[in-house]
Amino acid sequence: MSEGRELMARLGPSTVKFDTGRGGTPDLTNQDIAAALGMVPAGLGRELLEALWWPDSGRRRSQRLREAVIRLVAPEYVRQQQALSVARTEFGIAKACMGWAGSPVTDAQRTEHRRAEAKLEATRALCWPNNTMEQLGVLAGAIVEEMANSGCCKACQGLRIQGAKDGRGVIECDACGGAGVAPRSGRERATAIGADHSAYRRYWQPVYEWMLEHMRAAESLAARDFNRMLARAA
Ligand SMILES: [Zn+2]
Repeated sequence: MSEGRELMARLGPSTVKFDTGRGGTPDLTNQDIAAALGMVPAGLGRELLEALWWPDSGRRRSQRLREAVIRLVAPEYVRQQQALSVARTEFGIAKACMGWAGSPVTDAQRTEHRRAEAKLEATRALCWPNNTMEQLGVLAGAIVEEMANSGCCKACQGLRIQGAKDGRGVIECDACGGAGVAPRSGRERATAIGADHSAYRRYWQPVYEWMLEHMRAAESLAARDFNRMLARAA
């Protein structure tokens, strides 16, 4: 999986031929690699692939990465805010209905009030911070940096799996959650986004982990496409 990424990391201004190290396969030139990259579908994964493995190009394309990150995060943020707005409205209605125009409060109204209140609290608990969009650049920068520099998971050696406890077959590695890389600590992530550790745990962890998971998945898919195109070019 990583071979294409590593070849790409060696892309430079020269037209040196690279030995793919796969014995028997023809050498790939920069042009072959760039052409294969050009066939990877546009989007977040492709932009991450370039930002992580071909930083020179990634820097030139930073605007596209920014747009792709916004396209990833904004719809989910909007969905959460809409759910919160609906829950708040329903709670307001339930409150207003209790003893409407001086009439006695019914059990059904009390039940509905409790339900709406619980729903509002649960919805609020799932919402990312209000200033998520303002902090998006900082979050994305820290996540790209984590993706670029995190080492192999020591528990599974990057294989993403571990033996099942009942001894039958394999399951997703517990230590890395199947990502194959060592997760950074909350403290390290807090520092990277300029927050203190308690603020990270309380507010930022859910959005950080959600973005990391989606960005990693997008980059892996793009890397798979890239490797397929390279194999075709070789
Ligand atoms: Zn692991």
